[in-house]
Parts: sequence; structure tokens; C-alpha cells
Amino acid sequence: MKNIYVTQPYMPPLAEFLPYLEQIWENKWLTNGGPFHQELEKELTDYLGVEHIALFANGTLALVTALQSLRITGEVITTPFSFVASAHSLLWNGIKPVFVDIDPKTFNLDPEKIEAAITPHTTAILPVHVYGNPCDVYKIQKIADTYGLKVIYDAAHTFGVNYKGENLLRYGDLSILSFHATKVFTTFEGGAIICPDAKIKKRIDDLKNFGYAGEVSVVSTGINAKMNELQAAFGLLQLKHVDKAIERRREIDAQYREQLSSVLGIACPSLPADTTHNYSYFPILIQKEYPRSRDELNNKLRQHGIYARRYFYPLISEFPMYRGLPSAARENLPVARGVADKVLCLPIYPNLENESVERIVSIIKGN
Ligand SMILES: *Cc1c(COP(=O)(O)O)cnc(C)c1O
Repeated sequence: MKNIYVTQPYMPPLAEFLPYLEQIWENKWLTNGGPFHQELEKELTDYLGVEHIALFANGTLALVTALQSLRITGEVITTPFSFVASAHSLLWNGIKPVFVDIDPKTFNLDPEKIEAAITPHTTAILPVHVYGNPCDVYKIQKIADTYGLKVIYDAAHTFGVNYKGENLLRYGDLSILSFHATKVFTTFEGGAIICPDAKIKKRIDDLKNFGYAGEVSVVSTGINAKMNELQAAFGLLQLKHVDKAIERRREIDAQYREQLSSVLGIACPSLPADTTHNYSYFPILIQKEYPRSRDELNNKLRQHGIYARRYFYPLISEFPMYRGLPSAARENLPVARGVADKVLCLPIYPNLENESVERIVSIIKGN
């Protein structure tokens, strides 16, 4: 039987991509804001219902650039329960990460614990909407307003998620998306910054193109983070299929929930209220009532060719470049540690078959 990985990109029929390739060959415009790049920015702005979007070569460069565009310095409050790029974007800017524990229900930054971590050096908060579940955007904004801090959301998991009738990407000062191959919407590698204001969008566009503001004027120490035409063309094609792909993810999510509901010691965190979800991940928590440890279950699945993933274990704060920070101390992050030790993300992607879901559940049940 073929191996099953935690995710697999949705690939539209190759024949549908060929006309885009022919157009690129005809245009001979491969990067630097070409026609497909312009079209994808416009279509994504409409699809997501946001003011402005700046496309990037990947999500990490979008995060690094987002922090630069707002001139964030000093200390930034963030979560240890995320992909390592969230905190790396701070170190790349010479900013000190300050880790704050997570909420046991949402697995996102616990707003009740943010204020105690603010110092005179704090300039911003970098929360992550983990698994596409919304952070407490209202409480976070209130704290930011009180202390004069910026809020930059790592919204890498959040493509197309609406919260209380608004796209989740509209909250905070800036949000970043990732279009990596493992994400719900992909351009092979890719990313974006969502911003509310044309002036900041211009600064971001300069920063991703070496800091060029005109033909002979360089206004900032920018990097090369531009999305190319092949990526943008693939994004345009993906966009035509993404609603269907999310709908299939929803069915798989429902199937797992139903079939796992009777398994003692396996908890499926419930989907948040007031949210239209994208079903980007299917996390389960392995509790002490389950006869195996999380790692034992993970190994057993592997023996059957099922590659689940321990997102996010270890915590970012455990990696060598972070573990010396006072806020990385294990006693500071008990909830995040507990979740990191119990969580396992099961395979979920549009082409996953019902029979595969049944097989995965059956292995979890111990059959
Ligand atoms: C995928 C991801 C990123 C990085 O995105 P890339 O496009 O791979 O650079 C950042 N943050 C989180 C939470 C992610 O999952």
C-alpha cells in the first residue's frame, strides 16, 4: 500500500496549466511584477475581501519584511507553539522574542498572559492563528492599543478563514500568509502580506525588491523576495479549485470526528464558533486514558505507512537559538508544553480517500 503523508498538495489537471505556460513563453516576462503577478494580487484581494496584498517568494520572507515595514525593534511577544519561522523572523531582524504561554482551548497566545510580559522595550505582538483557529483578536488589539504596540499576525494557516463575518486577515496591523506546498492554497513556495493601507503596501513592495523606490533610487536595505510568474500562474489556477478543495477537507474533518468520537483517550479539539474554517490540519490530543503514548501511536501509524506529524513539537523555545532566553524557561510555558507532548496531526488533504480515513481510524482504535 502507498504511504500516506500528513498532507499532499491539490494539483489541478496538468492540461489546465499549459495555457498559462504558453502565455509565459509568449510574454517572456518571468518575474518583477509581471502580468500573472498583477492578476493574482487582484484576484486574491477580491477572494479574500482585503484592501491590499503584496505577494512574496515565500511566507518567511513575508514575515521578515512585515516586521521591517513597520520598523519593529526591541522585544516582540510571541508564541512558542508554532512553526519555527515565526520566531526566526524576529531573530533575522535583530529582535528579541519573548515567549508567552498559550490558551489550552485555542492553542494560540493566551491574551491573559500578555500584559505581564510587556517591558519598556516591547514594540509589537506576533501571534499565530494556529491550525487556522482565530486568536482572541479583540483582546489582543485592546492590549496593543493600551500599550501602543503593533500587531502582526502569522496567518500562515489561515487562507480563507472568516471570523465573525470578516476575513480573519483583516485584524491587526498586518497579516502574513504562506503558500508553501503543505498549505491549503499553494504556489509551490510563496507567501503574502495583507495590509490595510496603500502607503505601507508601497513600502513593502520596495522592501521585497532590494529597496528600490524608482529606477535609480534605493530607499531601504530591502531583500529579494519577489514571487515569480510561474508561481503566480499556478496560484491563479489553484484559486479556481480552492473552494472545492476546502469542501473536501471539511468532509474528511467530519468523518474523522464522527469515527474518533467513541475512542477513549483521543480528543479532537472542537472547531471554533463564529468561524468558517479551512480544515487545514486535523490535530488530535492523546490523553492518559489512551493505552499508548503519543509517540507510540505515531510509530505504530508509521509502521502502517501513515506519516502523521507532531505539529508543533518541540516548542520553538526548545531550539538552541531560543532556549537561553528567560521566557523560554519550561516553567513559563506549562500549557504549551502539555499540548506539544500530546498533539498529533492526522493526514488531511483533498485527495485523501474515505477508505484511507477509515484505515487510519482503525489503526488508532487498535484493530
Ligand atoms: C508554513 C509556515 C510559515 C512559513 O512559511 P514558508 O512559506 O514555508 O516560508 C510560517 N509560519 C507558520 C506558522 C507556518 O506554518
